[in-house]
Amino acid sequence: MSSAACIFCKIIKGDIPSLKLFESDKVFAFLDIQPLSLGHALVIPKFHGAKLTDIPDEHLTEVLPVAKKIAKAIGAEDFNVLQNNGRIAHQVVDHVHFHMIPKPNEKEGLTIGWPAE
Ligand code: IMP
Repeated sequence: MSSAACIFCKIIKGDIPSLKLFESDKVFAFLDIQPLSLGHALVIPKFHGAKLTDIPDEHLTEVLPVAKKIAKAIGAEDFNVLQNNGRIAHQVVDHVHFHMIPKPNEKEGLTIGWPAE
């Protein structure tokens, strides 16, 4: 299920370019266009839904393992995984997405190892 008007559905289809990190039949991951830190990624179910409560479990269960895979691939030891639901909670794009935001070690930085497969 996808939405013709949704920017992230367009990214999944390849109609809008992205820096893709990972893709499977249910999950897509790419770099955030306005990164809060080096390696800030978005991991999304391909199933279109605005909020976590709109996504069937079988589509959600494969999302967090991909965030974990990306964190390990780039050597991010400290990082935030964040998911906003609704305007009051600062959600801007109405397609469920998990931010994976590395918190680089100031001394060692990050070892970037894209792609994360
Ligand atoms: P939200 O506030 O949790 O909805 O976050 C939406 C995120 O999507 C923001 O961090 C944006 O920078 C990111 N974003 C919006 N459009 C694009 C795009 O076309 N490519 C990559 N990231 C995007």
